Amino acid sequence: MSTFKAPKGTYDLTPPDSAKYLAVREALAAPLKNSGYGYIETPGFEDVALFSRGVGESTDIVTKEMYTLTTKGGSQLALRPEGTASVLRAALEANLHKLGNLPVKLWYSGSYYRYERPQKGRYRHFSQVGAEAIGAEDPALDAELIILADQAYRTLGLRNFRILLNSLGDKECRPVYRDALQGFLRELDLDEETRRRIEINPLRVLDDKRSEVQKQLVGAPVLRDYLCDACKAYHEEVRDLLSAAGVAYEDDEKLVRGLDYYTRTTFEFVHDGLGSQSAVGGGGRYDGLSEMIGGPALPSVGWALGVDRTVLALEAEGVELELPATTSVFAVPLGEEARRVLFGVVTQLRRDGVAADFAYGNRGLKGAMKSANRSGARFTVVAGERDLAEGVVQLKDMESGEQTAVPLPEIAGTIRECLAR
Ligand code: ATP
Ligand code: MG
Repeated sequence: MSTFKAPKGTYDLTPPDSAKYLAVREALAAPLKNSGYGYIETPGFEDVALFSRGVGESTDIVTKEMYTLTTKGGSQLALRPEGTASVLRAALEANLHKLGNLPVKLWYSGSYYRYERPQKGRYRHFSQVGAEAIGAEDPALDAELIILADQAYRTLGLRNFRILLNSLGDKECRPVYRDALQGFLRELDLDEETRRRIEINPLRVLDDKRSEVQKQLVGAPVLRDYLCDACKAYHEEVRDLLSAAGVAYEDDEKLVRGLDYYTRTTFEFVHDGLGSQSAVGGGGRYDGLSEMIGGPALPSVGWALGVDRTVLALEAEGVELELPATTSVFAVPLGEEARRVLFGVVTQLRRDGVAADFAYGNRGLKGAMKSANRSGARFTVVAGERDLAEGVVQLKDMESGEQTAVPLPEIAGTIRECLAR
């Protein structure tokens, strides 16, 4: 233990658990790579105004959760609290929307920062894999993203998750609903902060987690009754495509999501084994966002899946990921001459693409064999002076315990054969 600890609300990923995180990250991204999404990486911080405009002044993220800083040069920056605004900013800056066919499909993976009250599944530094499809209004695109997230979770072995689906309407019908909802909410018995929220972003009040608020919301006007014909037809098409793909979802008219920029399709993936931090991922359509950050009209849709919570969900379901052993071969030299020879063997194996490691530090046979066991290696190569005098090394199968002498020049080839079996 040093004098220092990881900052509050953060945790370190260390072996062996870190391998699981890496595998989850890769599994969440895999369906995207296979569906025309190109990789994008943006800075860990942005102009704070990108988020206040892009995510929305009334959201929890902007009002409470952003890590902001002033640089020595006087710029106001924020550590990125989410990915969509940055990805859209970067796509516009690179003119990706002008280069070829729309939509521009992008995926990303990285760290995000929110000043939250830390608890299980809620951290100040967390990790997301995200996807954005920019510049097309097509219900098949909304369906594609939901289907790909479903596929990613299922490939990992996750089962007890549900997909909540809603439509938030567009700039035609949402304002009419907003008025009706405000009229309803103003009559309720609510605290000052919530009253202010009614005036800034009344839909967010529906998202209030407190039961005393939820109780009063029974009978609130529902958006579904206000959707215009275009939004209704669009939503029906998304639902039909999901059903045709065999992806089950639940209609949830209270699902408004925390971000201001959503229009039409919104969805959330919730897992029932996670307590109150139940959302493992979410997303939706954001047809107005590009214009909100000074770009052209580019109707778009995207999602972000939380890596940390997906790992917790897998643990809650008792799913063990099949992680390949990180080391296939472990070399144990006995004596100086053997060190040089086996170091050469390990180098050759690695160049041949075989995962190999070596007993460093002259700790004697017992300590070295302990390391070999711990490494999970399928084979150990041991050599001492007598072996070398005979021109062989000992190849030990760690599963069967069987040991054979293999001529030194053949060892790399023999190991490759054994591993391929
Ligand atoms: P919540 O309602 O739980 O606060 P959110 O709506 O703020 O979630 P999004 O902004 O949609 O979350 O982010 C997408 C996903 O990222 C979430 O579903 C969740 O899995 C993950 N996530 C968001 N905030 C955190 C956090 N503070 N710690 C860990 N994971 C998070
Ligand atoms: Mg949140």
